[in-house]
Amino acid sequence: MNALNFPPRYPLGIFPTPLVEAPRLAAALGGPRLFIKRDDMTGFGFGGNKIRILEFFLAQAVDEGADVIVTAGGPQSNHVRATAAAARLAGLDVAAVLHDSRPAETQGNLLLDELLDVTLHFTNSPDRALVDQQIEVVAEALRQAGRKPYVIPRGGATPLGALGYVRCVQELNEQLAALDLRPDWLVLATGSCGTQAGLLAGARLYGAPYRVLGVTVSRPLAECLVRVGALAHQAAELVGQPVDIAEEDVRVLDGYIGPGYGIPTPECATAIRLAARTEGLFLDPTYTGKGLAGLIGEIQAGRIGPDETVVFLHTGGEPGLFAHPEIV
Ligand SMILES: *Cc1c(COP(=O)(O)O)cnc(C)c1O
Repeated sequence: MNALNFPPRYPLGIFPTPLVEAPRLAAALGGPRLFIKRDDMTGFGFGGNKIRILEFFLAQAVDEGADVIVTAGGPQSNHVRATAAAARLAGLDVAAVLHDSRPAETQGNLLLDELLDVTLHFTNSPDRALVDQQIEVVAEALRQAGRKPYVIPRGGATPLGALGYVRCVQELNEQLAALDLRPDWLVLATGSCGTQAGLLAGARLYGAPYRVLGVTVSRPLAECLVRVGALAHQAAELVGQPVDIAEEDVRVLDGYIGPGYGIPTPECATAIRLAARTEGLFLDPTYTGKGLAGLIGEIQAGRIGPDETVVFLHTGGEPGLFAHPEIV
């Protein structure tokens, strides 16, 4: 393989993140050998997967001479919070379009957004796709006012953002080699699909023993399959090493969204309590709780066996817990 040609990064995180075994959680599940890749500990702005992704966007924003970052998400968006913290570190202003209306309580990520003095624009509509159009409206108003906005789409789910998780595969490969591990599965929660796409591209580019399994917590299965495949392909192209992503390598598990994005299910609450009570490990109600619920479901259904080894990617999101006291 030729050396991959990565664009510049603005350093935000502390890497490598730990890879730790979770024997009590594994025993409680009667299941496979289980490791957690602690990307909740990416080391900046309450961490999470968005930190790796943002390093590429921030470098480009600074290079283009932007003075304000514009992005979007929900009132408890980890992406908006992490983007805002990164923007502040780089000396930039930040505006965000949030779907729904302002919650009665300023908690969790929303509290952090306020602390970071993000200019918030609520759409007052539950339509999550609406924010994608509104980002452009806000960016254009800023241009008219003489500012230089840099737009980061929802979730940072672009080929550039996905490169954060191409790099993560190389990091994880080194950790696995040092422990002499060849896991069968890498399981994660999938939202806007950039993280899974990066992992899939990285697994193809660097080689990896495991299959990547995303548990969708947000988008319909068919949409995820298309997005993950396309973003993985484009991410590999972006580093100058195009790969074919086979359809059967794009694995997304459905059935764990429940009534909707960001609404915890009983299985999600059970998974969160179990991780806390067996490992002292905090998951989140929107992504990782549902992701672990998906893994538990696969173990219970016998599709992931006791002789296998699984890495669960902890993508962060803990601030969201504080907006969901009903979980305990
Ligand atoms: C954004 C996010 C994800 C999903 O990542 P995508 O790249 O959007 O699929 C998973 N977990 C947490 C905590 C997140 O904030």
